[in-house]
Formats: sequence, C-alpha cells, structure tokens
Amino acid sequence: MNHLTRALAGLYVLASAGLLRCAVISEQSGTTGYSLFFVGCTVLFGLAAAHHAWHRDQLHAAHALLERTARPPGPHAAAVADEIALAWHGLNTACCLTSWETHGQQHDPTHCTRKDTTA
Ligand SMILES: [Zn+2]
Repeated sequence: MNHLTRALAGLYVLASAGLLRCAVISEQSGTTGYSLFFVGCTVLFGLAAAHHAWHRDQLHAAHALLERTARPPGPHAAAVADEIALAWHGLNTACCLTSWETHGQQHDPTHCTRKDTTA
C-alpha cells in the first residue's frame, strides 16, 4: 500500500465520520430522509475502507507469493557466496593442497613446510 492509497483509506474514514455527523444533524432537524441517505453513505464509505484493508492484505499475499516464486531454488546466493569465500580463505591459508584436501590430516611431503601447523 503506497502513500496515496493509505491517505485515501484515511479520507474514507474521515468522510464516513463526517457523513455520520450529517446524518445526526439531519435527524435532529427532522429530515429523516436525508438522515437515512447520510447513514447509507456512511455505510458505503465504511465498506470502502474495509475493502481497502482487504485489498491491501490481498496485495501483500500476492507480492509474497510472487517473490517466493521468483526466488531461485536451492540455497540463497548470499549463503553460497559466503561458503565460497570461506573455502577460498581456507585454501589460501592452507600450508599445502594436500592439507587443504584432507582438512589438515595429511601433508605433501615434497613441498609442505607445515608452516601453519604445530604438529
Ligand atoms: Zn602441509
């Protein structure tokens, strides 16, 4: 719901209150026909405000459904990027490729200096 429709819904409520006031004044003046007309208009504006609220909920649900449908399947792209960044960091800080592949259990005896290990 944007600002214009929100303001319009607020104006419907204000108009409804104003029309109800007109209905009361008409009834006090003895013009029951006008009073009933204003009461009808009050109900009409109240229904318009309720319709705005219902429409807002429908739009919100449709927007959520479209967003969920448009989202690519699988994990979030940001989560995948984080995993890739962590994997590159682990590879860059490993002492040798064999150590990186075996999670530090083995080392390449020909090239590894075991610079990052204490064992
Ligand atoms: Zn190593």
